[in-house]
Amino acid sequence: VAPDRLRFDFSHMKPMILKDISDEIGMHESTLSRVSNSKLILTELGVMPLKNFFSASISGSENSELHAASAVRETIKNLISKGIEIIFESGIGDGIHVGDQTFIDLGAKPVSRESCFSDAEIILTPSPIDDHEVKQIAGGKTLMGMVNPFDNQELLKNLCDSNINLVSMEFVPRITRAQKMDVLSSQANLAGYVAVIESSSLLSSAMPMMMTAAGTLKPARVFVIGVGVAGLQAIATAKRLGARVEAFDTRDVVEEQVQSLGAKFVKIDLGETGETSQGYAKELTDEQLAKQKELQSKVCERSDIVITTAQLFGRPAPRIIDNSTIKKMKRGSVVLDMAVESGGNVEGSKVDEIVEVDGVKIVGISNLASKVAGHASYALSNNFNNWLLEFYDEESKNIRFDFEDEIISSSVLVFDGEVKNERFK
Ligand code: NAD
Repeated sequence: VAPDRLRFDFSHMKPMILKDISDEIGMHESTLSRVSNSKLILTELGVMPLKNFFSASISGSENSELHAASAVRETIKNLISKGIEIIFESGIGDGIHVGDQTFIDLGAKPVSRESCFSDAEIILTPSPIDDHEVKQIAGGKTLMGMVNPFDNQELLKNLCDSNINLVSMEFVPRITRAQKMDVLSSQANLAGYVAVIESSSLLSSAMPMMMTAAGTLKPARVFVIGVGVAGLQAIATAKRLGARVEAFDTRDVVEEQVQSLGAKFVKIDLGETGETSQGYAKELTDEQLAKQKELQSKVCERSDIVITTAQLFGRPAPRIIDNSTIKKMKRGSVVLDMAVESGGNVEGSKVDEIVEVDGVKIVGISNLASKVAGHASYALSNNFNNWLLEFYDEESKNIRFDFEDEIISSSVLVFDGEVKNERFK
């Protein structure tokens, strides 16, 4: 092989791989490391041990409104240090004020969105991809990310038909070992923070109590309904801003957590409610829901801000505030429906709109976490990174799809052309 035909840069390759290639083509390693080659030429020559490379591509989101950078400096650096070749969708960091050059300097390569799908062993994505994009991925490769499988069952079918594996990060189990990969928690936590900031900015009063020469200004009253990850952060944020905070959840195990944040737990006896083995709330009966609405409406009446976070995993969110409650609330108060994208907790709430009913603002904001895109990307990227590195085998340069492992069996929804998760079969 004439060195001038070699155009691919070998200089970053691990010595072991370099040696394999040089043995194959009978060229000394030192010569090889100085010249370049293209993968294509090597493949034609039958000497490119493609399976000895592992590349990950990081794509952005087609929806530019989303924060969508599942790439940040720290994680790219980390993956490259493990010998993983990284390509990324050019401009992916624009939304978080990070230019391509930052990633290039770390050794990653900017490519088109199409190349992200066609040129990597594993494709990381912060949002579901389109059908035509699935066609760009070769069989046997892996798509990993936030794909909202409940609302995208067609995507699962297409991936299955094309023999593309799917890691759905939403299905990382809620066990201690997997906390570092839990995308739902990392994003819900930030969403809870943003919910308070956004709703407080719509009030005509301040949040904390202030003793001023002009009189004592009362603190705002905040009521948080649903105390999961988002609710807890909403309580903590409202407390930090000085509000008086009350909270309710159908899972009474959260009472202690609410109190430990300095808020008051509203007791509503709904009888048997319970939670699933993953800690999720069970659906209430119609009678329980009616009772909840009636008793919590008294708390809504005295609140300046009501933030609803009630969700049911895999099902539409429960409708827990209706118009009769809104009509009893004070003019100027704010109801922020954090479940607006999954069916809505509040009657009349609309995605990305503020609907006013009798002077009460009903607020629905999509993808709240994207309002703090830098932190959302940082957390998301770490979650992805932690999954990848947990199962990446440096020796074989491949992912260990060991279905004995609880994290794999829960988060890998499609493998080898087969839907693995019972819920989607
Ligand atoms: P979620 O987003 O599914 O729901 C939000 C909250 O709404 C939940 O607390 C739920 O109980 C509540 N809710 C449902 N119906 C309601 C109703 N009618 N009225 C009032 N509240 C209602 O929940 P999430 O934030 O994903 O958290 C679910 C659970 O998982 C929590 O117990 C959380 O602490 C736990 N968790 C555990 C881990 C871990 O161990 N690794 C990680 C994250 C979350």
